[in-house]
Amino acid sequence: MEVDYIVVGQGIAGTVLTDHLMKEGFSVLVYDDQSYSNSSRVAGGLYNPITGRKMVKTWLADELFPYLLTYYKGLELRLSTRFLVDTPIYRPFVSIEEQNEWMGKSSDPAFQPFIRQVFGSSQFGEHIYDEFGGLQLDQSGYLNTKGMIVAFREYLLTKNALVEQSFDAESLELTEEGTRYKGVLASKVIFCDGPLLSSNKYFSWLPLSPVKGELLFIRVSEDFEAIYNRGVFIIPIGGGICKAGATYDHFNLDQKTTERARKQLIEKLDGLIKIPYEVVDQVAGIRPATKDRRPFVGIHPKYSQLGVFGGLGTKGVSLAPFFAKQFVEHLTKSEELKMEANIQRFFSLY
Ligand SMILES: Cc1cc2nc3c(=O)[nH]c(=O)nc-3n(C[C@H](O)[C@H](O)[C@H](O)COP(=O)(O)OP(=O)(O)OC[C@H]3O[C@@H](n4cnc5c(N)ncnc54)[C@H](O)[C@@H]3O)c2cc1C
Repeated sequence: MEVDYIVVGQGIAGTVLTDHLMKEGFSVLVYDDQSYSNSSRVAGGLYNPITGRKMVKTWLADELFPYLLTYYKGLELRLSTRFLVDTPIYRPFVSIEEQNEWMGKSSDPAFQPFIRQVFGSSQFGEHIYDEFGGLQLDQSGYLNTKGMIVAFREYLLTKNALVEQSFDAESLELTEEGTRYKGVLASKVIFCDGPLLSSNKYFSWLPLSPVKGELLFIRVSEDFEAIYNRGVFIIPIGGGICKAGATYDHFNLDQKTTERARKQLIEKLDGLIKIPYEVVDQVAGIRPATKDRRPFVGIHPKYSQLGVFGGLGTKGVSLAPFFAKQFVEHLTKSEELKMEANIQRFFSLY
């Protein structure tokens, strides 16, 4: 068998990159063993242009957000499946000062595209504590990441383009023309192996800084539509069930759920939500975060047959489409990659 690309991993990164390669007419064979990492399948899936305690505009928001909406909507059409939920995120203010600050910022052209409305009084007081009003974001919502991955998996299977097995780098041969892996010839192998990059034979020198995350599934007594986000996010996914998360743990890096995270999330939830709820499930995963919080995109410094697309950290949903497009343009037209994401910035570590 001969293909243009082998892609290792079918999380958000592998899915979105493979799709971009296939759209350009390349043949791709994906290897994915789901037992290694479930980060993409347990993710909250939020795409949020204004983030963090200080509520700052996220890196490259003006370029990432318009493209991600167009891209995921197009993928939904091609796969005949819905997984993008374009719902505004509502962030309650914690003080009058914060309310005033955002009243001012709402006329700032840098923020305008991401603000739907600034409320000076409670809007969702029947569900949450928002006595100072809040900020309703635009170009925000969530992606049902598991739904997208499952739908793309089925599509790959119909094309005989998925091998549901571990990819063993020890069996990979690098040749003058490209690569050979167990009888498959490919021009290039691109690793989209998420947190497994830290033990990757060819790319473990990249400074990954994985972060464990956990989230709860809660059943709420009253269904609602808005996504609430203040210290913890609450995403209604239908049938009275919400996802609530997430935690950050840099030290315990297994994929098991913990009592500590459950308590932490319940404490935060109780500070945000008024209506009764019950915890029905809990999940955990490892985010492939990087030391400088920027993705890893590019070609190996020594082996031009090998590439990497990862390090998506806490923002896989919003980073993947834009950088997959850039990477494919780099591979096909030698277009420059953004230096902040290009792995060239770490070549001195190799
Ligand atoms: C609790 C939690 C909440 C999150 N919430 C959000 C959110 O709201 N919004 C957001 O944008 N991001 C969120 N994230 C982050 C997001 O999940 C990551 O950015 C994203 O999943 C990274 O995707 P990936 O494809 O790089 O890695 P992964 O999801 O880890 O995918 C890698 C895939 O490769 C496979 N693999 C690895 N090595 C091999 C091998 N040798 N052979 C075969 N297969 C292999 C793995 O099993 C896996 O299937 C969250 C993460 C967690 C844990």
